[in-house]
Amino acid sequence: MKRVGAHVSAAGGVHNAPRNAQAIGAKAFALFTKNQKQWAAKPLTTEEIDQFHHQMQAGGFRPQDVLPHDGYLINLGNPDASAHEKSLASFIDELQRCHDLGLVYLNFHPGSHLKQLTVSECLSRIAQSINRALEATRGVMAVIENTAGQGTNLGHTFEQIAELIAQVEDQSRIGVCLDTCHAFTSGYELRTEEAYRATMDQFNRIVGLSFLKGMHLNDSKPDLGSRVDRHESLGKGKLGLTPFRQIMNDPALDEIPLILETIDPDLWPEEIALLYGMVEPP
Ligand SMILES: [Zn+2]
Ligand SMILES: [Zn+2]
Repeated sequence: MKRVGAHVSAAGGVHNAPRNAQAIGAKAFALFTKNQKQWAAKPLTTEEIDQFHHQMQAGGFRPQDVLPHDGYLINLGNPDASAHEKSLASFIDELQRCHDLGLVYLNFHPGSHLKQLTVSECLSRIAQSINRALEATRGVMAVIENTAGQGTNLGHTFEQIAELIAQVEDQSRIGVCLDTCHAFTSGYELRTEEAYRATMDQFNRIVGLSFLKGMHLNDSKPDLGSRVDRHESLGKGKLGLTPFRQIMNDPALDEIPLILETIDPDLWPEEIALLYGMVEPP
């Protein structure tokens, strides 16, 4: 079965995220467990954690249906030593918060070289940061998101993702989330059945489908290979609906969170219904 949802708001407390997800007909969701534009946050209280569990149960969500996203300030590839330490500390705190909530994933963007490191140096710096963060925490898997390759962001090729995974010591705690908009704008064609198949086969060959723990379902404002990260509502961008029909009928994507990060939250209930309507009978 497919588990479609959206990156819902956790305003007013993390327990509001499962409630917001349930309200739009979602069977999975993403959230920020703290303000994504700030470094620090107060630790979650027992009461907040209890309320979150209660709402998870009420909505019928399992821990693996939730794909928390880390904050925007974190850059595990930062060449500057003190900025890097700050990022790593924040990343460890994010993993800990997920663990406190009984969750099993943390989705993150690999990092940026800021024109001060080579791609390979930066990838190693990111992989070593992941190793340190996994050593410092328990239970939660670090889930690398492919990027659009905007600016000096790494993780925009399957080869870079495979290189990161190869350098991670605990292979049981590393996964990948594929964002359709980022894949397309970083140069992976998805707009026909054949192109979708070819891109997924390429991912399987280079990275391995066993590492795929979630997807972000976004249409794209910019064109193929533009390396610009701008999401669009489903069917209103350059991708159109074909890739999403493929995704909804791809058995390799059963039971993993398929998360909308499209730009108009008012459309999420319709988009979720549209996606479920694409599932063809076996
Ligand atoms: Zn992301
Ligand atoms: Zn994304």
